[in-house]
Amino acid sequence: MSVKLHGIPVSGGIAIGHAHLLSHTTLEVAHYVLPKKLVVEEVARFDTSLESTRTGLLALRNNRPVQAAAEFDSFLELHLMILADTHISQAPREMIEREHCNAEWALKVQMDALVTQFESFEDAYLRDRKTDVVQVVERILKTLAGQSGHVPRATRHNVSAILIAHDISPADLIQLRPQQFTAILTDLGGATSHTAIIVRGLNKPCVMGLHQARKLTQENELLIVDGTQGVVIINPDKQTLAEYKQRQNHWEKAQQKLRLLKSTPAITQDGTTIELHANIEWPHDLAEVHATGATGIGLFRSEFLFLNRDNLPDEEEQFEAYRSVVKGMAGKPVTIRTFDLGADKQINGAQRVANNPALGLRAIRLCLTEPALFHTQLRALLRASVYGNMKILVPMLSGTNEINQTLKFIADVKTSLDREHIPYNPDTKIGGMIEIPAAALALNAFTKKMDFLSVGTNDLIQYTLAIDRTDEDVAHLYDPLHPAVLHLLEHIISTANKAKMEISVCGEMAGEVAYTRLLLGFGLRQFSMNTAQLPGIKHRILHTNLADTMPIAQKILRADDPIKIRELLDRLNA
Ligand code: PEP
Ligand code: MG
Repeated sequence: MSVKLHGIPVSGGIAIGHAHLLSHTTLEVAHYVLPKKLVVEEVARFDTSLESTRTGLLALRNNRPVQAAAEFDSFLELHLMILADTHISQAPREMIEREHCNAEWALKVQMDALVTQFESFEDAYLRDRKTDVVQVVERILKTLAGQSGHVPRATRHNVSAILIAHDISPADLIQLRPQQFTAILTDLGGATSHTAIIVRGLNKPCVMGLHQARKLTQENELLIVDGTQGVVIINPDKQTLAEYKQRQNHWEKAQQKLRLLKSTPAITQDGTTIELHANIEWPHDLAEVHATGATGIGLFRSEFLFLNRDNLPDEEEQFEAYRSVVKGMAGKPVTIRTFDLGADKQINGAQRVANNPALGLRAIRLCLTEPALFHTQLRALLRASVYGNMKILVPMLSGTNEINQTLKFIADVKTSLDREHIPYNPDTKIGGMIEIPAAALALNAFTKKMDFLSVGTNDLIQYTLAIDRTDEDVAHLYDPLHPAVLHLLEHIISTANKAKMEISVCGEMAGEVAYTRLLLGFGLRQFSMNTAQLPGIKHRILHTNLADTMPIAQKILRADDPIKIRELLDRLNA
């Protein structure tokens, strides 16, 4: 029987292929009964997995990342304690011996019993510790599966495999080498999560927030994914399949046509040149930057150099990465953002220790509390600055104090380079991301002290509307057209323009054709986006008359009814 699911459209295009389910959670363990002669072996298998999990946790404790928060130690102690608890270390053993079941099943049954106990506690803190129990059991299960704590690599699939995960972090997705899949689907997640951003950069159809896709799909089942509409069809009938094959053909032809615009400058019909820059995550993304004809790099998310590894990239490694990008762009602007770790991008071992990671020690806040780490990155960046046109962008600044501290920090790094006679460009421009409403409302501090600004609409919307950008349950409330967001955006752009300060938008809004004319109408002349979106945005700019956009953009700003705003936007885009 054919089933149609609706989710959040994350990355456009049509894919047709076979499902590959990413098994990830404890709730999906198999249950089987073993022949009596294998029971001793199964108990030994269980004991070995416990011991390797313990060794893994101890290794994490001994190699505590320098920037890990103080909670890191207590989190590890707690996990070691849970591991030693008899519910986890003894009861499953006895159950295997008694019932001859597999180790995974015994572990899951005992975990459920322990979780139930935790749920009955009156104390909220203790109640919440059930999550730690589940995390410890997940670790053991991964060890049992011989995966040593990593998600499996799906190498056996051909290029038409469609990955279905319940949820997947950016770090896990990278490990899976997502290039090998033709489309990616998740039950959880929002359209501006970093997982979504990576998939969009790969130009693969993607739908998130599907809720039940992982449960309703069988391994290898035929699927159609319409990433533009956010639709997934499981087991399509012949007629639907034929219809979508045709749509897929059209989409691919349209994409090829757009890519022919590579060397065409982005100039509006009334003659204004618009800068279209690219967002990248790694130096190897440069190939796509050149293929799409971006006129610069508006956002290099340097924190991706820090993910999926047990050590931290040292100054030399970072320097080589930054230099290769700056040199590769041959004099075109390259904006490198200092690392924005925290929230949904954690380095190995520092997982989910904060209660509220998006509001916690993230980005510049983390840098200023871990000066050694920040110092290393700034040295590497400044050293790379002599190889081209490089700028430094600082994420999550909220106002004067953080700006002053950051600028002082950079000045100190320059002094240390001077002392060692190491060359750098003393005029390297330092910019601030405007992605916290406080920054947008206290913009003077930024226009006075920084050299350029870049608006991170993903976070600006998240923090303005109090919507966790990674949570699909509130994804429907994530609204770039909310009047509060529009007012902030217009205010930032017009204030920067009046102050003659370079201003760009590098959040996902910059790569959505639906908002191009609106942002142009607010006065934006520099956009930075995923390379996959760049040709479409250029096409829209080539078909836009700026003089027509401004009055409608102003009307949209004055409207407060969502329906009216949509109507006006449709008019603007007609
Ligand atoms: C943003 O917040 O819009 C942004 C560009 O930064 P990131 O998506 O990496 O948080
Ligand atoms: Mg951001």
